Amino acid sequence: MGAETSFSHRGRAAALAKLTDAPVDLLVIGGGITGAAIARDAALRGLSVGLVGKGDFGGGTSSHSSRLIHGGLRYLEHGDFRLVFEASRERRVLLNIAPHLVRPLPFLFPAYRGSRVPGWKIFAALWLYDLLASFRNVHTHKWLSRKAARRMEPGLREKGLTGAGLYWDAQTDDARLTLANLRAAVLAGAHVANYVEVTALSKPDGTVKGVAVQDQLTGQTATIQGKVVVNATGPWVDGLRRMDDPNAPALLRPTKGVHVVVPRSRIGHTNAITLLSPVDGRVMFVLPWDDVSYIGTTDTDDSVSPDEVRASGDDVIYLLRSANALFPQARLAPKDVISTWAGLRPLLAPEKSATPAQVSREHRIVESASGLMTIAGGKLTTHRVMGRDVVDRVAQKLHDADGRPVPPRAATDHLVLPGGDIADLEVMVESARARDIAEPVARHLVHAYGSESAALVNLIERDRTLGRPILDGRPEVWAEVVHAVEREMAMRLSDVLIRRTHLFYEDPAHGSAAAPPVARRMADLLGWDRTQETEEIADYLTEVQRAREFMTGVARASRVS
Ligand code: FAD
Repeated sequence: MGAETSFSHRGRAAALAKLTDAPVDLLVIGGGITGAAIARDAALRGLSVGLVGKGDFGGGTSSHSSRLIHGGLRYLEHGDFRLVFEASRERRVLLNIAPHLVRPLPFLFPAYRGSRVPGWKIFAALWLYDLLASFRNVHTHKWLSRKAARRMEPGLREKGLTGAGLYWDAQTDDARLTLANLRAAVLAGAHVANYVEVTALSKPDGTVKGVAVQDQLTGQTATIQGKVVVNATGPWVDGLRRMDDPNAPALLRPTKGVHVVVPRSRIGHTNAITLLSPVDGRVMFVLPWDDVSYIGTTDTDDSVSPDEVRASGDDVIYLLRSANALFPQARLAPKDVISTWAGLRPLLAPEKSATPAQVSREHRIVESASGLMTIAGGKLTTHRVMGRDVVDRVAQKLHDADGRPVPPRAATDHLVLPGGDIADLEVMVESARARDIAEPVARHLVHAYGSESAALVNLIERDRTLGRPILDGRPEVWAEVVHAVEREMAMRLSDVLIRRTHLFYEDPAHGSAAAPPVARRMADLLGWDRTQETEEIADYLTEVQRAREFMTGVARASRVS
């Protein structure tokens, strides 16, 4: 099977056949960014690798983040200098190996009189931030006068404003970054499948030798054998550890984080904004994303299952209230919310008591008595390092088991991710335009697919109907549905509408109008019968309904000031 088709529904079937046929060196459980990075690194070192995820790739925390590749300015407050240093280096690496998916973003951090963090502290923190990035960030920071800050962001509250810091971080598409890592893993020989849940560990002699799985699309069960099995299930890691040992202590202290999406015109900002919530003084962001803005995040202890995490009315009110305090003209109310997303941070349980914001973002690898290796903690930004650290351990374990040589580390910091071999995004946009693609569509395709946008343009040239928008007035086109199924292993309607594209989050009706025609097209491509097509639409509309549940919680609040 060619590399081009191996990351498709056909590739999924072939991967499952392979995985159930013969043992692999490494079996990764979890198709989020952490599992994806491990699979990429291990496959590049020449190990035979399998990866299964119980839902869609990136369907857990890795599509519910703040979408930032950042050093983590706010971790300076807790003295987490090592993490900021490492994350800053990773920001530089990712800007190089995935320039289409990880793009520089300017941030304005306004200083207010009487605020919890005074101007001089912001000023000092920005120096330290640049220092920890070895002054090799996209640009070094600047300090702006009160006037200059208002010129840059006229909507900012004027009262008490004393100045602002302008600094740089990067923004990404978390779900597509996960996908890019997985596709790189497959190109290097890994076998991966979404919608395959691990239901038990297989320990014939007390040592983990594989897993029992159930295909969530067909219900079929099977066994997959792995010489080393890694649990990379993010907020689910403790559940998996208890499958191994019911008394395993918790490694995590997960916290819930929520974002709300509102029309960008309501806030009218150009830059990303870092703010201190007037409610509790926490650091938050207002982030631009095409014509919407997302505001986040909350950070609360929550014992909800990772399968059930949702935004509540209180979360939404807190976020809107915080943004309104900084942008008084926005007057955002719950009815302005286009969508929300919520995720559980898989944070390491701290040794002593700490507030949610103080819990470390570092990662840790542990091995149980039966040999199950678990990686816990970490961040989207540091996924490559997490992958490398796990594979170092796996390679040593394989060497200890059968004497094979330990392979050298792979150049994961230099090898570009699929779509990343692109010198200049603007040149690519121009070349798509030269092939008769409208500007907004060309820009959207280049940003989402990088150099691979050429493949989508080819599809459109062959069949001009594929160049039509999926929803009028939006840049997503039908070629993306074909591409998602044929080259991005989209198996369900929600995969296309939520994670391959983001219509679910950006269209005020959550892409509901697109659900029937996209399901029709997917039915043709995937061979669904009428019943399955109808079920896919119904399941999607249920997701849409759940996304609006927060409205019940805010029904009583008529105004958020
Ligand atoms: P997940 O992405 O949750 O992946 C785990 C996977 O395991 C899931 O896909 C699930 O389906 C699978 N799984 C679970 N059980 C099983 C099973 N039994 N069998 C098979 N598969 C299974 N980090 C940053 O660097 N920048 C940010 O801006 C940022 N913002 C954040 C904002 C919020 C609100 C949150 C919650 C987190 C944020 N993070 C950020 C942290 C980052 O998103 C996470 O650290 C990262 O996504 C975790 O990835 P993961 O692969 O470990 O977990």
